[in-house]
Amino acid sequence: MVRREFFKVAAAAGLGTAAQNTGMAQTAVAGPAPFIEHATPGQPHKGKVFALITPHLDDGPIFAGGTVAKLLNEGYTGYFIRVSNDEKDSYSLTMGATVLANEQDAAHFVEVAGLKKRYDLHYRNHGLDDVSRMEIRVRLIFLFRLLKVDTVLSYDPWGHYEENPDHYVTAQAVEAACWMSADHLDFPEQFDAGLKVHSVSEKYYFARGPQMVNRVVDIGPTIRQKAAYIASCRTMITNMVKGTNDALTARGLRISAFAGNQEAANEAYIQAAFLDRDKRIGAKYGLEYAEEFHYIGPDRSLDDYIKTHAEHI
Ligand SMILES: [Zn+2]
Repeated sequence: MVRREFFKVAAAAGLGTAAQNTGMAQTAVAGPAPFIEHATPGQPHKGKVFALITPHLDDGPIFAGGTVAKLLNEGYTGYFIRVSNDEKDSYSLTMGATVLANEQDAAHFVEVAGLKKRYDLHYRNHGLDDVSRMEIRVRLIFLFRLLKVDTVLSYDPWGHYEENPDHYVTAQAVEAACWMSADHLDFPEQFDAGLKVHSVSEKYYFARGPQMVNRVVDIGPTIRQKAAYIASCRTMITNMVKGTNDALTARGLRISAFAGNQEAANEAYIQAAFLDRDKRIGAKYGLEYAEEFHYIGPDRSLDDYIKTHAEHI
């Protein structure tokens, strides 16, 4: 669950929550002006593969849904790797029913987005800091080599003030796996199964707290796709809406748009909590809607030398 987003909405509603005391808000760390990535016509990424890797179903749709849609529109083949089983994120279901409901929602998200396949690693939700990071890393390296992943989208392993261990453990495992999957001495037994070394060359990292932002993706053209992705996380969004309503009730308040028909209430909440936030981010860069990332691209440090010195053989 994106607990911080719940706090932000609750704070906006005048509810006394931790958000007001800790200043929790996505903030860009000062640095050079970021590169603005606009939609590209055609399918320039045809043949390339990305993996969205998050501990929880809703992380990707909420923080990178517009970019996921953009990359898919531009020809990428996409996979979703969900690291936890999301057993803690429902309003009133039992733990077993919560696992199933979020598993079904994850299948729905993959279908709505047009992703090729989902891999659930099924570690226990809220407990990733008690799992061997090496184990998660090896599983990711296997998948990066198997799927020939070129690009990843995940939490920023260097984002500040992240309170959820699932987020930072996943981020650290992803970052290490990206380069170790290219090393012939890391888990060489995988090569006997037909896999080959393969490095991940592009990374889009998002964060809930302050991070170095060097890339802003214009998601104006994909904002409706993003809204549909978030809506597919029905169990989680319903939990956020009902939790917000409970907090409002405790203060003697009510937001009529969040009450009544659940689909309509979820839609209103998605607009208020996420799409309006993306609009505020976009306004900083003269865009209608935007998502911010710390982007790491391919290593070009030898390009000039190669251009000057390389011979055809
Ligand atoms: Zn999460």
